[in-house]
Amino acid sequence: MAWDVLSDEQREIRELVRTLARERIAPRAAEIDKSAEFPWDVVELFRDHAVFGVMYDEEYGGLGASALMTLVAVEEVSKVCATSGLILGVQELGSLGLKLAGTEEQKRRYLPLLASGEWLAAYALTEPGSGSDSAAMRSEARRDGDAYVLNGSKRFITNAGVASLYTVFAKTEWAAGHGGISAFLVEGETPGFEVGRIEPKMGIKGSTTGELFFNDCRIPADNLLGEEGEGFRIAMRILDRSRPGIGAQGLGLAQGATDYALEYAKTRETMGKPIAEHQLIAGMLADMETKCEAARGLLYRCGELIDEGAEGTELTKLSAMTKLYCTDVAMDVTTDAVQILGGYGYMQEYPLERMMRDAKITQLYEGTNQIQRLVIAREMLKENRAFLLAGVA
Ligand SMILES: Cc1cc2nc3c(=O)[nH]c(=O)nc-3n(C[C@H](O)[C@H](O)[C@H](O)COP(=O)(O)OP(=O)(O)OC[C@H]3O[C@@H](n4cnc5c(N)ncnc54)[C@H](O)[C@@H]3O)c2cc1C
Repeated sequence: MAWDVLSDEQREIRELVRTLARERIAPRAAEIDKSAEFPWDVVELFRDHAVFGVMYDEEYGGLGASALMTLVAVEEVSKVCATSGLILGVQELGSLGLKLAGTEEQKRRYLPLLASGEWLAAYALTEPGSGSDSAAMRSEARRDGDAYVLNGSKRFITNAGVASLYTVFAKTEWAAGHGGISAFLVEGETPGFEVGRIEPKMGIKGSTTGELFFNDCRIPADNLLGEEGEGFRIAMRILDRSRPGIGAQGLGLAQGATDYALEYAKTRETMGKPIAEHQLIAGMLADMETKCEAARGLLYRCGELIDEGAEGTELTKLSAMTKLYCTDVAMDVTTDAVQILGGYGYMQEYPLERMMRDAKITQLYEGTNQIQRLVIAREMLKENRAFLLAGVA
């Protein structure tokens, strides 16, 4: 790639992650999909090579937190295995509440465990009756002395059962709408907290997606994140910074599928020449590569913006655009890659049918792509562009 915004040190980290992905994770990807078992060996690999460290500041045991570097790492791993890329993406998702709203004491207690990868993290917002409309949640937390008592359930939670720390959202005041939601840090071993059914699903099969139950689960009051009533705002600030991670997973899938289809098209011959030399196939490859490069431009700009400390409309809009575009590209491009392989693309012997199945989830979670469009339009409506009309009669 000619265009590159990474520093020399970041390029070295990318090279390390790329090598791990190619040599250690790619050979495992089909088996992870087939067995649908959480790949602890990949977690071990990330631990051994300090890959989790890219998300955390040095004072908490990391390499120096960089959103851009995190996105690059997720992209590189997702080129070969989207389940493994998601391990990094969800570690960030589950840590962001602490990073953004945690007290110094909370950060010192938990961030080093997350930075080393000893503990995995999860983010629990969705409930059976509230997905897109997250403020309709039913879980509640009641203050009782020096604790909160949590009751309710969560659904579709990534890393259910494998995470040791969960960022959980619950209502502390019913009458206050969005303003009545609070965020808590819940350790996996807390009495009254149970993991329910792990869902069988279409793709990212090695990633656990499960139910969480809270039955009179007592959480120390010290584990409240921010102030009571700040939970919804914290949830949205987290999503502004985590949605690009799903974009990175989508872009990785799209680029991985493009690279695979290109190599295949160079060697598969029909009508006396490689299919890559048939113009209809060449045109598809060109479109796939162009979409990936455009997606990368958005993704890396979004990573830079987060690292620059952006907040508000500029970040919310770019983050939603990044998630929307990169993941729509993932679905388009993986589908086209299957098409380029013809009947072979449909076979499990080749990785593309897995990549196409894996791509679908990127358009759904962390806010469906319809919701991203609503967010982008809402932020556009806040902007004043009247100057464009100045002089128009
Ligand atoms: C594999 C997987 C992993 C997940 N991991 C997590 C996790 O770690 N943590 C977590 O909290 N959640 C997680 N989720 C939940 C995910 O974020 C939600 O499923 C998603 O936000 C959609 O919510 P829903 O499924 O309730 O769909 P619904 O909200 O019921 O939406 C159904 C359909 O209606 C559309 N729709 C809804 N409202 C509108 C509207 N206002 N305008 C236009 N269209 C609309 C949606 O786009 C969708 O097409 C995960 C989900 C899956 C499948």
